[in-house]
Amino acid sequence: MLYEFDDKNDTKRFCETAIQLIESYDIRSTPDYFRLFYDYASERDPVVSATLRDVSDETPEVFRRAAEDLLYNHYGEDRNFRLLTETGDAMQDQIQHVVDQVSHAGEDVGEFGTALDGLENGLGSIEGGRAMQTIVSQMIVATRQMKVKSEQLEQDLKQSANEISNLQEKLEESRREALTDDLTGITNRAGFDRTLQRRADKAAASGEPLTLVMCDIDHFKRFNDAYGHQLGDQVLKLVGAVMRDGLKGRDTPCRYGGEEFALILPETDMVGGSKVAENMRQAISSKRIIRKSTGEEIARVTMSFGVAEYRNGESPAALVGRADAALYQAKSDGRNRVSMEADVTPKLVAAN
Ligand code: GH3
Ligand code: MG
Ligand code: MG
Repeated sequence: MLYEFDDKNDTKRFCETAIQLIESYDIRSTPDYFRLFYDYASERDPVVSATLRDVSDETPEVFRRAAEDLLYNHYGEDRNFRLLTETGDAMQDQIQHVVDQVSHAGEDVGEFGTALDGLENGLGSIEGGRAMQTIVSQMIVATRQMKVKSEQLEQDLKQSANEISNLQEKLEESRREALTDDLTGITNRAGFDRTLQRRADKAAASGEPLTLVMCDIDHFKRFNDAYGHQLGDQVLKLVGAVMRDGLKGRDTPCRYGGEEFALILPETDMVGGSKVAENMRQAISSKRIIRKSTGEEIARVTMSFGVAEYRNGESPAALVGRADAALYQAKSDGRNRVSMEADVTPKLVAAN
């Protein structure tokens, strides 16, 4: 995308608006965000404009989430993967089409050769047919050569189609890797964004409920300070394993970032989602953490959970914002607990 065609006065205005947005929403002032808000201010990107306009009246938290989502999904690597895969699919379709055509043409050439063979034999018995027979023989030779060539072409095309298919598999594999968290092996942040979007679209279409649980380890900084980051990482692995083992097939446990996790629970309402969260809370707090070298139990880890149910038509960022607010409530109510969206103490709205 080229930026040099904007009027000089306009660019100055767009820059100022971008900086203002970064400051007023208390967003990290990085080039990525600056570009995002520049695009928003200049209305050069319809997806950015529509997404941010949609959340401009929501809470700052919801706006920040939507901006972060755009960086991951709209500008991020994921988009490149999608474009590459789609291009690969289209190429493979085209090649398959040409392979089919060539193979039909090859069959026609084969039939033509057989007809000429018959003609050649027939001519032998006709008077004066000798000269004709020579011509037909030459035609048969030419036809056979053509048949060999078209078979060769068909083979080459089939091989190209196979190579594209292999490339697509590799791409799929690297996409799977790109959506998986290295440490815990569960879905990472980019995967979370994709899955939540997909599940929300499905819930909106079917009317089935969808519940999101945001989870955060309690006082994890203290744990790291007391026992070191390596053991901290082992705890993150443990939490990932407990989440994976404790959920059904259609549910997705994710590492949202750092020591924050999320559970995407399709076809599950608030009550069901709270039960899942409560089971998870108990499962995690009952795990004993043992220092391998000495066998001594060193600590227990607890987590807080915030549960929110999807409202038809809302953006995934809005749902995350509401589950986050419930999580915040669980923290302020004393941690190691599950808080539902209804438990959130309403914030006082400042009168103008
Ligand atoms: P709270 O109960 O309010 O959530 O307290 P907290 O200490 O867990 O929260 P805070 O957000 O202040 O600190 C999060 C800490 O999580 C900071 C860091 O020490 C730790 N952390 C984040 N990511 C990782 C990680 O990948 N590995 C390890 N070992 N620690 C991490
Ligand atoms: Mg924490
Ligand atoms: Mg945290």
